[in-house]
Amino acid sequence: MNKIELLAPAGNLEKAKIAILYGADAVYIGGKQFSLRSRASNFSIDEIAELVKFANAHNSHVHVTVNMLPHESDLDGIEDYLKTLDLIGVHAIIVASPSIMMLAKKLGCKFEVHVSTQHSSTNSSAVRFWEEKGMDRVVLARECQMEDIRSICEENILPIEVFIHGGMCISFSGRCVLSNHMTLRDANRGGCAQSCRWKYHLMDGETELSDPTNLFSMSSKDLQAVDYIEDFIHMGVASLKIEGRMKSAYYLATVVSSYRMLIDYIYEHGHADEKIIERVKKEIAKAENRPTGPGFYNGLPGY
Ligand code: SF4
Repeated sequence: MNKIELLAPAGNLEKAKIAILYGADAVYIGGKQFSLRSRASNFSIDEIAELVKFANAHNSHVHVTVNMLPHESDLDGIEDYLKTLDLIGVHAIIVASPSIMMLAKKLGCKFEVHVSTQHSSTNSSAVRFWEEKGMDRVVLARECQMEDIRSICEENILPIEVFIHGGMCISFSGRCVLSNHMTLRDANRGGCAQSCRWKYHLMDGETELSDPTNLFSMSSKDLQAVDYIEDFIHMGVASLKIEGRMKSAYYLATVVSSYRMLIDYIYEHGHADEKIIERVKKEIAKAENRPTGPGFYNGLPGY
């Protein structure tokens, strides 16, 4: 069985190299075009090429997000862009638009095509659909519960990637226009202002329902899945993904090295004991600036 992949985000070249040096098996980045989080994505083609060389030298991979939901004019230049990424030797692209997925396959690109979490894949028949379309990996929706992931992995259809750490999109897999309405920044074209994480005064007419000392937030906690890593390994999940392309180099180094330590420990000892779990949580807490929780892994609200 292949060792599970630890996949880290990076907003620039320096952070990407740090993530690799601190133990990421792969990093995901965005180019200047066709990517969500465009404000966090400042990789030029030359920088992507430099990173691929660096990653190859460190036995690591580079995944490039090409995951915007394109409108007509957004597709200009996509063919040349995909060909260039292929020539550079990126390992995979992460895609939301079916037209870009099929184009990459039609062009015969050597890189893998990973189906973005924005497709809200929550069951094995969705994964089978993508397998039939020739895709190489599915990033599951963050709304999956542990039992969903276990069943999907048991079907052994395609390699499965799951989120283990970072911000949650509080609207189902990013199907969200909060940012568009509040800031005129299009969340599905790289402009999300993370409006779900702001603090709000919750009003009913003139009456404030929220506690002024603890204002209401739609997304009050980030994901932290330290307790679930052993299960993911035993289920046969292919890749563990950390979210946060806008986070600092310090955050990345801390979070990546902590999960690296845990994964290596589990492979060495066959399981994770309380001591290593506590140690890893303590390490991660040094870098956290938001409260964390298990996301939806223990269940969805209302179920
Ligand atoms: S505002 Fe929040 S839920 Fe909406 S796309 Fe942005 S991060 Fe996701």
